[in-house]
Amino acid sequence: MIIVLKQNSTDKQIQHILDKIEEMGFRHDLSRGEKRTVIGIIGEEDKLREAPLKAIPGVDKVVPVLKPYKMASLEYQEDPSVFDLGFGVKVGGGNLMMIAGPCAIEGKDILHEIAMAVKASGANVLRGGAFKPRTSPYSFQGMGEEGLKILQEIGHELQMPVVTEVMDPRQVELIDKYTDIFQIGARNMQNFNLLKEVGSTKRPVLLKRGMSATVIDLLMSAEYIISQGNKEVILCERGVRSFDPSTRNLLDLAIVPNLRCLSHLPIVIDPSHATGRPELIPAMSLASVAAGADGVHIEVHSCPEMAKSDGPQALLPEQFDDVMKQMKQMAEMLGKTIPAPAST
Ligand code: PEP
Ligand code: MN
Repeated sequence: MIIVLKQNSTDKQIQHILDKIEEMGFRHDLSRGEKRTVIGIIGEEDKLREAPLKAIPGVDKVVPVLKPYKMASLEYQEDPSVFDLGFGVKVGGGNLMMIAGPCAIEGKDILHEIAMAVKASGANVLRGGAFKPRTSPYSFQGMGEEGLKILQEIGHELQMPVVTEVMDPRQVELIDKYTDIFQIGARNMQNFNLLKEVGSTKRPVLLKRGMSATVIDLLMSAEYIISQGNKEVILCERGVRSFDPSTRNLLDLAIVPNLRCLSHLPIVIDPSHATGRPELIPAMSLASVAAGADGVHIEVHSCPEMAKSDGPQALLPEQFDDVMKQMKQMAEMLGKTIPAPAST
């Protein structure tokens, strides 16, 4: 539910309205626009329908949000969301988030080497998994906290925000100490307890689409996070399961304009997991930027044959450099910015 306030409402009136909403047992989200001030109200649907919101002095209109993903919807917010990711990097509203790094953190020297290379090429967010959701329990599961420490140290040294996956609600507190951005992996997109847990932090969340999730499922998962008070959700398409084994997954690039009609949240494309094939990644990265994505997510490794996870799909640093050069040109043509992290 959104309530639109009468024009020229004073701060005192607004505070009174917020107090009343709380008294009724709902949460609120105030946004003061140039033209109008609105308050989003979050609570159980049945109770909201019956609440006497229109009767509160100062309220002009009560507008129901019809979409099931309320705060993630364009009905709720028309302007594209823009989030600060740390070290001066932003995503959304014309700012591109260029995430690069290895699938897994494997050690300090190797991560340092890859991070230096991707930063020099223009990546503005460093990735690396410390807790890996592997299909086999006998595959490398990640370095855990030791890996998180390495990631944070290198992120600080290079002044780059870092993103790493959280797989379990019990890991949120630990990972929060080390990361700038949480990643929720495809396999956990509907782990609702995990979504609620990251929703009660203050860090941006990169939410990957489940491998058989619909676009609406993805938005409903974003809503879970937002409903807990954390509005900073970045959606990520990483391919869906298909009948065709010629690529690892099937990249749904139409999701970009599709989501633009539904939501104000930024959308990033991950052509690495979507295709699983390094030779396809440059074309799909460029196509993502051309389609209007708010960024790309690319796995890079300086020695893919030695990588402990997802080596076969990693780009070499020089291949990443080439595709970044092309993406920069594309971004410029479209009037978009790739914010450089604060210089060292
Ligand atoms: C990853 O980013 O390394 C990963 C495991 O991605 P996804 O959840 O999309 O499979
Ligand atoms: Mn991976």
